Amino acid sequence: MIILVDMDGVIADFETGLLNRFKETHPDKQYVPLEKRTNFYVDEDYPEEMRNLLREIYRGKGFYFSLPPVPGSLEVLTELQSQEEVFICTSPLSIYEHCVPEKYQWVDHYLGKSWVRRLILTKDKTVVRGDILIDDRPEVTGITSPSWEHVLYSQPYNQQVSSKRRLTWQDWREVLKC
Ligand SMILES: [Mg+2]
Repeated sequence: MIILVDMDGVIADFETGLLNRFKETHPDKQYVPLEKRTNFYVDEDYPEEMRNLLREIYRGKGFYFSLPPVPGSLEVLTELQSQEEVFICTSPLSIYEHCVPEKYQWVDHYLGKSWVRRLILTKDKTVVRGDILIDDRPEVTGITSPSWEHVLYSQPYNQQVSSKRRLTWQDWREVLKC
């Protein structure tokens, strides 16, 4: 079985990293706690006039490399890889200057060189073949009908989706049955 695993919000904790950086940089500004997030895109949970402050952080140098791992994710990836073919499948920002190299550096740092060879960067995950895609995005669409089943990585901002199986790194074993 080929299992594709998304990166941000699934193994690299984009939301926690961004919120911590936002609170440090703008201690005077109101923020949205993670459990109150309702939109997949963080910008959409903030008023228009604050969105540029968030973008400056996540487009900036060092942000992607600084993201903490999602708790449990690295251990589960290693265990899953011993039984299945696992690839990391991530969509980089279109403003890619820092995001793309830092995604490689992050994977190398936390998982090692063997996982750098398992890193797929694409703007369209539907053209990547696999059996399962674990992704926190409510809908993953592209130019074609995907070969994989989208299993949602459960996050506060995707709770409205009821049509898909969902998992976390705490209950993945029961959901995937492997
Ligand atoms: Mg994601």
